[in-house]
Amino acid sequence: MAEYDFDLFVIGGGSGGVRAARVAAQNGQTVALAEEDRYGGTCVIRGCVPKKLMVFASGFPGMIEEAQAYGWQVSQSGFHWPEFKTKLHAELDRLEGIYRNILKNNGVKSFDARATVAGPHGVKLSTGEEFTARHILLAMGGKPVKPDLPGADLGMTSNDIFHMDELPSSMLIIGGGYIACEFAGVMNGLGTKVTQYYRGAQVLRGFDDEARGLVAEEMIQNGIDLHLGTDIISLERDDKGIRVKATNGEERHFDTVLFATGRRPNTDDMGLEQAGVQLGRGGEVVVDDYSQTAAGSIWAVGDATNRVNLTPVAIREGMAFVETAFKDNPTKPDHDLIPTAIFTQPEMGTVGLSEEEAREKGPIEVYATSFKPMQTAFAGKSSRVLMKLIVCADSRRVLGCHIVAPQAGEMIQLAGIAVKMGATKEQFDATCAVHPTMAEELVTMSTPVRHYD
Ligand code: NDP
Repeated sequence: MAEYDFDLFVIGGGSGGVRAARVAAQNGQTVALAEEDRYGGTCVIRGCVPKKLMVFASGFPGMIEEAQAYGWQVSQSGFHWPEFKTKLHAELDRLEGIYRNILKNNGVKSFDARATVAGPHGVKLSTGEEFTARHILLAMGGKPVKPDLPGADLGMTSNDIFHMDELPSSMLIIGGGYIACEFAGVMNGLGTKVTQYYRGAQVLRGFDDEARGLVAEEMIQNGIDLHLGTDIISLERDDKGIRVKATNGEERHFDTVLFATGRRPNTDDMGLEQAGVQLGRGGEVVVDDYSQTAAGSIWAVGDATNRVNLTPVAIREGMAFVETAFKDNPTKPDHDLIPTAIFTQPEMGTVGLSEEEAREKGPIEVYATSFKPMQTAFAGKSSRVLMKLIVCADSRRVLGCHIVAPQAGEMIQLAGIAVKMGATKEQFDATCAVHPTMAEELVTMSTPVRHYD
């Protein structure tokens, strides 16, 4: 008889957990997975996928305006949220089915139940069942958090936005991170009057200053009422809606309030510490470079570890875990030079060091150009794009690439390959331009705009 019920028990059916379960099962391991909510996790059910579909939906009014400027006789007759919402949820159901099938077709035993850890090799389900496993993988992800202030329960989070009964006429968004800025653009595009309060000096803290500055400018240009250095004190419902008191002294009414004030790992009441797993101050599972916890048989990947909270990173962490735990091939997930995109309007795509980070590390040259792109300039729009490279003055390597432009997410995926390969500025320049495109500027910038010694 086997020593354990399973070789691997995965807790959480999101991107990281499902990938690890599938790859381990394909490698011959006996695998179980428990998911308390819906398969596909944050990315598929309440994150990247529905968000991106809403980004697409919100882009059409701008396109119709542009089409008119190009001579098309078209007009907007309004957006029907209930119709979109029905289609959106049908699509999410379809995707959830695919995730369930991936597990089933690979022989993973899945449980629709909440799982907690009962010792270094034990898992207890909300159904009362208990199992043992040689290895346990924690892949529970995270959840949005609201600040602790009066009336916070009146505000919603990104989990709720896909379930709204109707489009609000006005929305206040609190926060300045990925989620706040993306939904500000989405809701604005769909026709809601959007106000955004961010407590800091500029949105998208941590990203290249020039790039985030341009994103903020374009957000304002698009009609988002962005207030920097502003936070909220309290919310209260009255007959005019939700009354919000802000630190700038203003009191205003909004139909809805969205808290996009960060996320926290789903590690509460999981029995982790009793099993020897260490948790950090933010509730994250503490792991080593191989995603292993202090309880050697328990591992963790994805947002539960709060390393780099992105779907493709969780997937890669899950695959590296399987190499390490089951294939006798210790593999550290690579967290260096991860390209990422923020789906604002316009998008921001970024890889590597910002100008501010790079200049702390040594002599650099900055190449940047900001211009009105052909497509929208022709339509009479004043929107600008940015193409920017940060170059190490000694090695000539491109240390960072920052793009603010429509489709910047697509562009940075490709530029990310060159940056990851260690391409130099001269190798960028040796690549022939694709004309006429916005991205050709990445290979034609001849003079640095700034040097730092
Ligand atoms: P972020 O951590 O990016 O942003 C949280 C924002 O809320 C910050 O602006 C923060 O301000 C502010 N904030 C935090 N606490 C408070 C508070 N008490 N009062 C007021 N403001 C507060 O989190 P998000 O929720 O936007 O996103 C979570 C993660 O999800 C991202 O970091 C990213 O990894 C991932 N994600 C990725 C996407 C993509 O790839 N396109 C899309 C969406 C999410 P301050 O800066 O001052 O701390």
